[in-house]
Amino acid sequence: MRIHEYQAKRLFADYGIPVAPSRPAMSVDEAVAAADELGLPVVVKAQIHAGGRGKGGGIVLAKTSDEVREVADRILDAPLVTHQTGPEGRIVKTLLIETASRIADELYLGMVVDRARREIAVMASRAGGVDIEETARETPDAILKEWIDPTIGLRPFQAFRLAHRLGLSGKTARGVAGIVRALFALFCGLDASLAEINPLAIDEDGAPIAIDAKLNLDDNGLFRHPELAELRDLNEEDPLEVEATSVNLNYIKLDGNVGCLVNGAGLAMATMDLIQHVGARPANFLDVGGGATAEMIEKGFRILIADPDVEAVFINIFGGILRCDILAEGVVTAAKAVDLDVPVIVRLEGTNVEAGREILNRSGVAFRTATDLADAAEKVAAAVKGAA
Ligand code: GDP
Ligand code: MN
Repeated sequence: MRIHEYQAKRLFADYGIPVAPSRPAMSVDEAVAAADELGLPVVVKAQIHAGGRGKGGGIVLAKTSDEVREVADRILDAPLVTHQTGPEGRIVKTLLIETASRIADELYLGMVVDRARREIAVMASRAGGVDIEETARETPDAILKEWIDPTIGLRPFQAFRLAHRLGLSGKTARGVAGIVRALFALFCGLDASLAEINPLAIDEDGAPIAIDAKLNLDDNGLFRHPELAELRDLNEEDPLEVEATSVNLNYIKLDGNVGCLVNGAGLAMATMDLIQHVGARPANFLDVGGGATAEMIEKGFRILIADPDVEAVFINIFGGILRCDILAEGVVTAAKAVDLDVPVIVRLEGTNVEAGREILNRSGVAFRTATDLADAAEKVAAAVKGAA
């Protein structure tokens, strides 16, 4: 789960990471009031779940109340396009009004789970700020790394070593090492999968301060932090994915034209390969799981055909724990309830397969049943060609 900068900065403050005073604002008047309260100048910052806001015009320094009003009016409720949003951009619903900091230097500090090493990678660079992605691509050596064994935790010398490798000394080195330790405590304490401070600015007195805050939380750890689950912003997520999560379905929207309803992540991946192999492209990943009920299947099927990109649906089920008759009932209920205008190819195998086929055949809905995977693939290819 991603959260906004203003939410992440509150958590940073809880863990003792220095941030500038700030207030979120949802309207132009709130933005002006926040700036008056904080004192000018302020930075007006668009809150969206994407980076690159500075280059996209979503981060603006305002020296007067009138400027705050003007900038807030321009940014709020309008789309902001950055290199991470796609051409349609994201509508800005919230601003962060923050006391402007005097920045002498911009560092980068980030932490991610390194799955291959089974450790936490801490990354830092002197070349922080809006061009960090280019730096990582063109001069990867400029990104320094320390790996943390999660069973041991961050040892203080690792934080100091990183500060010294950054070329820092004295008060600045101590400050940065303290922030590395605090960010690591936050990372573990909140079950984060990514935490990033870019830029980690050094002010004119040599004191570090987090100017930006990016935090992704591990969805599988959220049950331990009910107060964090409330930070979710559904406006920032794909509506079909939100609906799927609400009924415990594992659904990810993709950009192809064949909607897939499959049980088991392995079979789902193999099915996507098969679709690609016959020259079509999957419109989604949907794993209904082993213990799906008829209601979950129905919901999943509805989500699939609600996607305007879907030109054909492919149901590929191996009935183990999920029985084929349960699957068939859910699909038939959904197909009858909606105006089904795309071909549906079904391949069933496994527990209660005969009962499942019987339910499909008697339903009155024109399912195209396949005898095996190869047959299914041909029928999917034919259906997509027919639609085109
Ligand atoms: P991003 O572009 O989405 O990463 O947004 P950031 O919050 O990182 O802001 C982009 C850039 O704006 C930063 O790298 C800074 O150079 C600049 N910036 C942001 N806040 C301040 C501030 O308070 N003072 C100054 N001088 N620059 C700022
Ligand atoms: Mn940034």
